[in-house]
Amino acid sequence: MTQSYRITLLPGDGIGPEIMTVAVAVLKLVGQQLDLKWEFTEALIGGAAIEATGEPLPAATLEACRNSDGVLLAAIGGYQWDNLPRHQRPETGLLGLRAGLGLFANLRPATIFPQLVDASSLKKEVVEGVDIMVVRELTGGVYFGQPKGIFTTETGQKRGVNTMVYTESEIDRIGKVALETAQKRSGKLCSVDKANVLDVSQLWRDRITQMAAKYPDIELSHLYVDNAAMQLLRAPKQFDTIVTGNLFGDILSDAAAMLTGSIGMLPSASLGEDGPGVFEPVHGSAPDIAGQDQANPLAQVLSAAMMLRYGLNQPTAADRIEQAVLQVLEQGDRTGDIMSPGMNQLGCKAMGEALIKVLSHS
Ligand code: NAD
Repeated sequence: MTQSYRITLLPGDGIGPEIMTVAVAVLKLVGQQLDLKWEFTEALIGGAAIEATGEPLPAATLEACRNSDGVLLAAIGGYQWDNLPRHQRPETGLLGLRAGLGLFANLRPATIFPQLVDASSLKKEVVEGVDIMVVRELTGGVYFGQPKGIFTTETGQKRGVNTMVYTESEIDRIGKVALETAQKRSGKLCSVDKANVLDVSQLWRDRITQMAAKYPDIELSHLYVDNAAMQLLRAPKQFDTIVTGNLFGDILSDAAAMLTGSIGMLPSASLGEDGPGVFEPVHGSAPDIAGQDQANPLAQVLSAAMMLRYGLNQPTAADRIEQAVLQVLEQGDRTGDIMSPGMNQLGCKAMGEALIKVLSHS
């Protein structure tokens, strides 16, 4: 039976429209092959939305996203909007989208593609085969806890305050996403906290342990965040899925991603309770190469694969796209950012065509 999905496309700024064109072509072909029907709606966000409507997240865009099954976002931002007041900046549009859709879980894979192992700053034998998924809590913890602010004490001294807080329900819902993510992968989940020092982390550890008891197929371990950071650099292959709070996840997801050494290859997913998720590359709008057909579209294409796997529950289609990415790398196709001697350098469009060719024969 044909499955039909409404997808909102947010190409945004800079290289966004170029890489989005490639991802949409890939989705269309895989849709034909696997009997998935797409209803695409394109909407404005970021600088493009500011130019057209004066605001970075027009109400019509949020409405379109809410009414869809998945949101595929490219990137926002550019030099020309950097000096606008904060509420009018492109980044505000992104934050508004996350808040408006209640996205509390951020999934960031760090996968070393065998063909790009030399791009890592770590030794080949340390990173070869690394395949990690960091699940970060996105809307709680110390970034949002109250009280927060800079206050003046009775002695006239300034005092900066942030509060690290998690409720049981916040921990449970991110725990559920992480446990289900680990189930779709190798079944190993490592929870990262600072339970030796922080009470909030002790509650985190207790709840995650209780949650995991309901998932007998999951092998749960716990690490303190300082040790987790060391282990990520020392022996990253020991990790499969990592779950952690907002602050630790912010840092560890960037550190894990950089094990791969190639920003143009990194996708991400942000998920909410039941509405649509947002799937987007980790990189920005790369204004330095925008409009020059030089962008690497693979992070965008891999974001579409994450939408299929984690948003639409279509793992076969996701596998097909991920395999095609591996195959173009295997045949030596590279955009400028991942180029190495002896490989074929392609532009963004040609990389898209190479993917379509590989997929047509799969
Ligand atoms: P960036 O990720 O856009 O670019 C950093 C470097 O990586 C640049 O040299 C760029 O050319 C290169 N690069 C990035 N993606 C690439 C790709 N797909 N193919 C080839 N090369 C690629 O980060 P930046 O320069 O710090 O920021 C540029 C703009 O993007 C800023 O306005 C920033 O606010 C915005 N930004 C947006 C997001 C987002 O949309 N989620 C994330 C980060 C930055």
